[in-house]
Amino acid sequence: MENLSIIIPCYNEEKNIELFFEKCLETFKKEKIEYIFINDGSKDQTLNKIEKLIKNNKKENIICLNFSRNFGKEAAIYAGLKESSSNYVAIIDADMQQNPQYILQMKDVLDQNKEYDAVACYQAKRKENKFLSFCKSCFYKLINKICDTRFEKNASDFRLLKRNVVNAILDMPEYYRFSKGLFSFVGFNTYYMPYEVEKRMYGKSSWNLTSLVKYAFDGIISFSVFPLKISTFIGIISFIAAFVYMAIIVIQWFFIDVTVSGYATIVCLILLFGGLQMIFLGILGEYIGRTYIEAKNRPVYIIKDKLNYDNVKENGER
Ligand code: UDP
Ligand code: MG
Repeated sequence: MENLSIIIPCYNEEKNIELFFEKCLETFKKEKIEYIFINDGSKDQTLNKIEKLIKNNKKENIICLNFSRNFGKEAAIYAGLKESSSNYVAIIDADMQQNPQYILQMKDVLDQNKEYDAVACYQAKRKENKFLSFCKSCFYKLINKICDTRFEKNASDFRLLKRNVVNAILDMPEYYRFSKGLFSFVGFNTYYMPYEVEKRMYGKSSWNLTSLVKYAFDGIISFSVFPLKISTFIGIISFIAAFVYMAIIVIQWFFIDVTVSGYATIVCLILLFGGLQMIFLGILGEYIGRTYIEAKNRPVYIIKDKLNYDNVKENGER
């Protein structure tokens, strides 16, 4: 068994794969590594590049899980964790933004501090625009207020996990996988290590503002039922307000001569409560929709083929 498995999710990384692997070979000279590349339905030559790596590096233990289509990074991480067989498992991006050198540093932390079960890298200085940074801060404040699980700000998926943590995560086969939440949910002692993100070497990030908002929303829905409770609070408040207003009208009717008015108020209130009801129906729908999909128990990912898998296995390495 290798002492370290490295999971590398890849989506359209044809130009980065070789450079990334060279960097790994430079970094890991003494360690016995199991490389698990996941080709997440890339539309470019990523798969060919990984095949070439396997061919040209027969001495290295390289496996590639080739997905039948793009299932997303979360699914790729899950597949990699499932396939890993070492006592230590690292997750790293293929785009050269995360230097493999940090994996050695994370391993040192775990070796020297037996009380820790995992190390997670976080960006000490984020190189992004102020508005995005502000939105992310708000998101972390909100999610930490309404969820029991603690979310560490800026913590990335760039992590090193001990086997017990990996097994705990694998015990959660849910379809909607919000890794940041799953890592926190399982507990254990995590050491947060600052790291510096490098520029993406080639290609472009698959994130934009819309996908980030969707991701944030997914996180909240996956780890909290608080949005479902908001409608109850608003319901109670408007119920009390209605009673108070009713009392005012009765008093006015008795003591003051009221001419018929308030048309605008009624229209506004109808629109306000109509809108609120629709919003909460939508939120309810999100939860029900997810329950429906989870109930179907569909696989999180589908593997088309596994490259070099039997070779590595037959060698008694796995
Ligand atoms: N990735 C993936 N599937 C996807 C999107 C991304 O496996 O659907 C991989 C991608 O190839 C990279 C890592 O996940 O290795 C991080 O992706 P990206 O660079 O787009 O994210 P960012 O670094 O901007 O957070
Ligand atoms: Mg990246």
